[in-house]
Amino acid sequence: SSDHLRHVDSMSQLPSGAGNISSLNAVILGESLASEEHDLVFPSPHFSSQALISSPQQYQEMYKRSVEDPAGFWSDIATSEFFWKDKWAHEVYTENLDVSKGPIKIEWFKGATTNICYNALDRIIESGSGDKVAIYWEGNELGQDGKLTYSELLNKVCQLSNYLKHVGVKKGDAVVIYLPMLMELPITMLACARIGAVHSVVFAGFSAESLAQRIVDCKPRVVITCNAVRRGSKAIHLKEIVDNALVESAKNGVSVGLCLTCENQSAMKREATKCQDGRDIWWQDVVPQYPTECEVEWVDSEDPLFLLYTSGSTGKPKGVLHTTGGYMVYSATTFKYAFDYKPSDIYWCTADCGWITGHSYVTYGPLLNGASVIVFEGAPNYPDSGRCWDIVDKYKVTIFYTAPTLVRSLMRDGNEYVTRYSRKSLRVLGSVGEPINPSAWKWFYNVVGDSRCPISDTWWQTETGGFMITPLPGAWPQKPGSATFPFFGVQPVIVDEKGNGIEGECSGYLCIKNSWPGAFRTLYGDHERYETTYFKPFTGYYFSGDGCSRDKDGYYWLTGRVDDVINVSGHRIGTAEVESALVSHPQCAEAAVVGFEHEVKGQGIYAFVTLVDGIPYSEELRKNLILTVRNQIGAFAAPDKIHWAPGLPKTRSGKIMRRILRKIASRQLDELGDISTLADPSVVEQLIALSDS
Ligand code: ATP
Ligand code: MG
Repeated sequence: SSDHLRHVDSMSQLPSGAGNISSLNAVILGESLASEEHDLVFPSPHFSSQALISSPQQYQEMYKRSVEDPAGFWSDIATSEFFWKDKWAHEVYTENLDVSKGPIKIEWFKGATTNICYNALDRIIESGSGDKVAIYWEGNELGQDGKLTYSELLNKVCQLSNYLKHVGVKKGDAVVIYLPMLMELPITMLACARIGAVHSVVFAGFSAESLAQRIVDCKPRVVITCNAVRRGSKAIHLKEIVDNALVESAKNGVSVGLCLTCENQSAMKREATKCQDGRDIWWQDVVPQYPTECEVEWVDSEDPLFLLYTSGSTGKPKGVLHTTGGYMVYSATTFKYAFDYKPSDIYWCTADCGWITGHSYVTYGPLLNGASVIVFEGAPNYPDSGRCWDIVDKYKVTIFYTAPTLVRSLMRDGNEYVTRYSRKSLRVLGSVGEPINPSAWKWFYNVVGDSRCPISDTWWQTETGGFMITPLPGAWPQKPGSATFPFFGVQPVIVDEKGNGIEGECSGYLCIKNSWPGAFRTLYGDHERYETTYFKPFTGYYFSGDGCSRDKDGYYWLTGRVDDVINVSGHRIGTAEVESALVSHPQCAEAAVVGFEHEVKGQGIYAFVTLVDGIPYSEELRKNLILTVRNQIGAFAAPDKIHWAPGLPKTRSGKIMRRILRKIASRQLDELGDISTLADPSVVEQLIALSDS
C-alpha cells in the first residue's frame, strides 16, 4: 500500500518517565505497545525537539498541575500573557456544576477588567509587531487578495468602533453580523468587542428565516452585512436575504433601525442593491470618516463577549453565550499549544467565522497570539480541487486546519490536485467537526502532509469555546482517528448509563468534570435549557452529548453522537466505527450509517454510501462493502442495507445530518422536519428517489 505511516518498532524514541497519568505512561513505558490494531504515528525527532511541548513528560507535569491546581495554572498564564486593567478580586474561578447543589454557575477571573480586542491588537502592536501581517485575505477569484498589518487592522477596527458608538451602540448591546469571509468580518467582531457590544455572527449562508430567528432572539441595534458574495461560480445577494429577514423579524415585534451594508464590489455593484432610506447605510460612505483611534471599553471578565448558535446537527440550534476573560485565555492558550504555534507561522483555518471554529481559531485565538491568519472568501474546490494547495503555496502556509468533510471530498477528487503543488511550507495539519475516519486521516497525513506533518484532530464544541481533547503535535505519537489526550485543565470522564465514571479501557458517554475557562456560561435567555441539556443527564458533570471510548493506551476515540448510537442485538455500535470501516474501502468516498427498526435484532444498520467518482453501483461492490465491515469490526456490525447515495445531507458547516437519514431509512418521509438548514436540500430528494431502486 502507499501507506507511509511509521510503525513503532522500538520505544527508544520516547524517553521513559513517570507521572500519574497511567494511560499515557503506558505508552511511554512501552507496557502496552503491542497495540497492533492501531498504527502509531510519531512526530519526527526534529519536530519534537522544536515543539513547545516536546515530550509526554512535559505534558504530564503541566497537565498534573492544571488539574490539581487550576487556579494557579490558569492565573499564571492569564497574568503573564494577557493585559488586565484590574486584576480579579478574590477567587480565580468559582463554579457549580451540580444541579443538586443549586443553579449551574461558572465564573473565571470575575472582577477583573480587560478587553479582548485590546489584547488581540493593541497589546501585540505594543510588543513591536505592528508591522506584522495580521490578515492575508484571499478572494473567491484567483489573483484577488489583500492584507492588513496589525496596526492597519487596529485602525480599521477603531473606525468601525467609533461609528458604532456614534450610532448609539453601547456596552452590552447586541450586534448581528451577517457577512461572508471578507476582512470586514473579523474587523466587525473585534470592533464590537472593543466597545463591549455583544456580537452574534450568523453564517452568511443561512436563509432569511434562520437569520430572522436569531435577530428576534437577541434584538440587535444594528445588523451588519454586505450586498453580495461570490462563492465558487455562484453570486449570492446577501442584502436581499437580510431585507427579508428584517421584514420577518419586524412581524415578530423586533424592528432593527440600522443595517450597515458593506459594498463587496467584486461580487456586485451597489447600484444593483435595493436600499431603504433611513435604515440602510453603506459602510464605505461612513466608516472611513471616523478616527482611527478609539478608546477601549474595559469590561468585566464575566461580561458577555458573543452569542453563537450551534450548528444544529441534532435539532433546534442553541444560543451559546461566551464571556470575555476565560474565553480569551482559553482560545489563545489552546491555539498556541495544539498547533505548536511559532511567531513565524502562517496559519490558515478553512472554517467560516459563522461557526465557533471561526471565532476561536480564525479570529480570537490566532490574533491573541500575534499570528498571521488567512481569511479565505471562496470555496475550496473553485476554480478546481487544487485551490487549497494553491493558497498554501502562495502564502507559504505552515499550519492548515480544516474539517473531515473537506478532506474526504478532496480525497475523492484524486491525488493529482494535491501533488501538483509543493506544500513544502506545511508543518502542522488540523481537523475538526466530526470524527476523522482513519483512512481520511492517512490520506491527509501521507498525501497532503507528505508524511511529515502531525495532525491535530481537535475534539471540542461550540459550548466548550476551545479544544478539549487534542494532540499536542510534538508531544506524543498519534493514532489515526483518535483525538488522543485531554488539553490542560480538561478532565474527561466516560460514564455509563447510570452516570458512574468508568476507568481504563471502556466506552460510554463523554462528560467533563469541573469547569475550564472557555466553558459557555448559559444558553441565551434559557438557563433552564442549559441545565437540562448539559448538566442534568449526569449529575455533577458537563455532558457533551458525544459517545467516546478509551483504548488500553489511554487514547480517546470519539464514536459519534450518543443519539446516533445503534443498538444491534444488544451491541451498542457508534456510527463512526462503521462509517470508518466503509470509507476504508478504496471505492467508497463517504458513508453515513443510521439505525432502523429490525424485527429480529431490534435495530439494524442502514448505510448510505457515496462512491468515488466514476465507480458504478454493483451488487458485487455492495457485498464487498459489507464484507469490509465484517472483517474490520465483526459480523454484528455488518450493514443490513446499503443505500447508494449521490450525496449526503449536510449542515452548512459540512456535518452529516443523520436525523434526516434516519427518517429516510425508516421511510417516514413525511416526518423529515426542517430541511432548510441543509447546505443542499435537493440531496434529500435524490436519496428518496434512489431508496426504492
Ligand atoms: P448541535 O449541537 O446544534 O446539534 P453541533 O453539535 O454539530 O450542532 P458544534 O458545536 O459545531 O455543533 O459541533 C460540535 C460537535 O462536533 C461535537 O459534539 C462532536 O459531535 C463533533 N466534533 C467536533 N470535532 C470533533 C472531532 N475532532 N472528532 C469527533 N467529533 C467532533
Ligand atoms: Mg452539539
